[in-house]
Amino acid sequence: MPMEAAAPLTDRLRAEIAARRDEIVALTRDLIRVPTLNPPGQDYRAICELVGTRLAARGFEIRHERALGAPGDSDLYPRWNVIARREGRAPGECVHFNSHHDVVEVGRGWTRDPFGGEVAEGRVYGRGACDMKGGLAASIVAAEVFVDLCPGFAGAVEISATADEESGGYGGVAYLAERGWFDPARVQHVIIPEPLQKDRICLGHRGGWWAEIETAGEIAHGSMPFLGDCAVRHMGAVLDAFERDLFPAMAARRTDMPVVPEGARSSTMNINSIHGGQAEPGPGDTSLPSHCVPDSCRIVIDRRYLVEESHEDVRAEIVDLLEGLKASRPRFDYRIRELNHVAPSMTDRQAPIVTTVARAITEVMGQEATFVASPGTYDQKHIDRIGRLKNCIAYGPGLLELAHKPDEWIGIDDMVQSAEVMALSLARLLGPDREGRR
Ligand SMILES: [Zn+2]
Repeated sequence: MPMEAAAPLTDRLRAEIAARRDEIVALTRDLIRVPTLNPPGQDYRAICELVGTRLAARGFEIRHERALGAPGDSDLYPRWNVIARREGRAPGECVHFNSHHDVVEVGRGWTRDPFGGEVAEGRVYGRGACDMKGGLAASIVAAEVFVDLCPGFAGAVEISATADEESGGYGGVAYLAERGWFDPARVQHVIIPEPLQKDRICLGHRGGWWAEIETAGEIAHGSMPFLGDCAVRHMGAVLDAFERDLFPAMAARRTDMPVVPEGARSSTMNINSIHGGQAEPGPGDTSLPSHCVPDSCRIVIDRRYLVEESHEDVRAEIVDLLEGLKASRPRFDYRIRELNHVAPSMTDRQAPIVTTVARAITEVMGQEATFVASPGTYDQKHIDRIGRLKNCIAYGPGLLELAHKPDEWIGIDDMVQSAEVMALSLARLLGPDREGRR
């Protein structure tokens, strides 16, 4: 028997991943070179083919799913997803790695080719390098090493690359979850390799509530505003009430969720846009404004809320404030319209995927894992709410601060170490020494 076979499985998995370092880099570069920009949602089929072809050669069964009729789906920009599954030799649980394959716009300020996959100083550069093609590459190589070294494993390994996370995930994970792909009867553990850092486990995210508020007025000649009613002044009263009552109340609420950065451990609200009165002049329109009292003013609010609050509380707090103005301010009237809602999601600290990955982080990194929660939402919301699967975390290489920025990069050492953590987690859940067996 060769020496290697006698070494503990964890050591052999780690050594094999280290040996495939160049392969992780090459795959990351290939993924970056497919410019899956969203919007509009281009080259989705190409990236699904890249992932599917590679994993088919490793004995995975491949399914391509187009999210027909999902927002943004068209024949020009079809919303393609790919799901790869490799069955083990014995019955057991299914571990699923889910990565989104879309990337956000390039933006200004780059000194590297955003779709070149340039390698320098131990990093791979490009749009989507950390968010999240580096994480996708790490999970693919981790799964390949695991099935190569443990061909007799139990259960199944799945890898998906899904569309549109950057625009809400409706053509990706939400679509698949609605069709049972994340049913707890078929998938038991989910890891989303978002760039949360190689030694941190992200348990979930805050909730979000988006709404449009409109104040009403009455149009009149601008020289005699007293004959009309100014909707912008009414909105001024709304904003004033926000400053006086709402913002201090939200800042005083603290969550037990381990949200990072620290500032997001309170409730927050962004006023996304404001518009009142005449429309902005179009390009080339040099005419002066006509003199009118605005009869409408609208704002869009983006309210992020804590696991200790509810959708109803959040809405009621705003409605109460508006009703207060209606009672006290002459001629004040408003309309409120919900645009979108995402409930908060928090996986239990003792859930099996959490304890398994935490243990693997300690083995690879020689330090305890840090537990965090995300200020914004990601695809866990759909796996939790639609799929009803609670055993889900985000864990992957890269720094969240680099996401969506110019000269985005992923560290090669980080990808290798994250892949080791992922392979060790697979071994713990599906390998010969798996938990349920002893
Ligand atoms: Zn992402």
